[in-house]
Amino acid sequence: MGEEIRIEIESKNKGYPIFIGNSTSALIQKFIEENHKNKKVGIITDDNIKSLYENTISKSLNHLSPYLISIPAGEKNKTRETKERIEDMLLEKKYSRDTIIIAFGGGVIGDLAGFVASTYNRGISIIHVPTTLLAMVDSSIGGKTGVDTKYGKNLIGTIHQPDAVFIDLNFLNSLPKEEFLNGMSEIIKIAITSDKELFEFIEKNSKEILEKEENTLLYIIKRSIELKKEIIERDEEESGLRQTLNFGHTFGHAFENYSEYKIKHGFCISRGIAVESKISVLTENLKREEEKRIVSLLDKFSLPNKINEDINPNKIIDIMKVDKKTRNQKPRFVILKEIGRIKTKNKDFSFEIKEDIIKKAIETPK
Ligand code: ADP
Ligand code: ZN
Repeated sequence: MGEEIRIEIESKNKGYPIFIGNSTSALIQKFIEENHKNKKVGIITDDNIKSLYENTISKSLNHLSPYLISIPAGEKNKTRETKERIEDMLLEKKYSRDTIIIAFGGGVIGDLAGFVASTYNRGISIIHVPTTLLAMVDSSIGGKTGVDTKYGKNLIGTIHQPDAVFIDLNFLNSLPKEEFLNGMSEIIKIAITSDKELFEFIEKNSKEILEKEENTLLYIIKRSIELKKEIIERDEEESGLRQTLNFGHTFGHAFENYSEYKIKHGFCISRGIAVESKISVLTENLKREEEKRIVSLLDKFSLPNKINEDINPNKIIDIMKVDKKTRNQKPRFVILKEIGRIKTKNKDFSFEIKEDIIKKAIETPK
């Protein structure tokens, strides 16, 4: 393969490397041979990815004789039942502690396989090979694992750091446009809160990004990961700084719940970015021109940012109040000072906002 980029995530408990390149299978094979010699390899994936990449896997990882476990695609399968099914398949084949899991897929597979690895035989190693843009820049990094229940998303899970993450840009070529844009929403989010230069780069290079021009993608993916790295390393307990990652998510998560999870995460977050930028303007923190710039960037990527659906703001506000990140039933928001910089005060990174302002932000046309 060509030059690969290596980013090291440092952590109190366990650090790990993230490799970014455009043909990482040789690297994966080498990594496992060097660090997990003689272990059995279980690859967990979904049916779509299996049908696209089964041949690639068997060609490139054949020395490792992997056991390929595939589940039906889609968030609705991210459940405790699927976790049990995967565990039974591994148990049936007598996979022991000497097993390494490869999570090969999008966020659903990463969360599920991570959860399996974290409890199988009291915890085994996992490496992530994210195949969606969202998983590359967001969900494969940070060690969050989990499944959904009828009571809500990601309510049961663990933190289980991977041994390594391998990001291969080639997988993006088969990714449907909608899934690509879904991931762009998180990249734009992190640029807005943490890096004006990245924001301006995305503004200038939107065409190249949409055409999946390799060096352009490499830069925005690498930069997003570096920014997330900085945030999670400086705040391992998710107490303070890590809330930065939640910009757009107070409204976004509530809207996702309100729409009964029929709208993809990134498209709820883009609406959340618009509403929470508006809140930042209404509370006199962000200039109106900057808010306009944010909304135009979302438009460039066809990311929804208008709340003109027939929605009931009171109902969404009620949902926000029971979000796990609220304190005393009061929804909290990350507030922008300007593009690339958020408001902080006495080590607080999120703020209570009066209900009439939240309502106004939801209701005003953008
Ligand atoms: P996310 O990463 O957004 O959480 P999922 O794991 O649900 O997403 O994956 C979204 C959809 O994209 C699934 O249907 C999955 O099978 C499909 N998919 C994932 N990676 C690829 C890829 N590289 N090419 C084509 N389809 C893919
Ligand atoms: Zn998100």
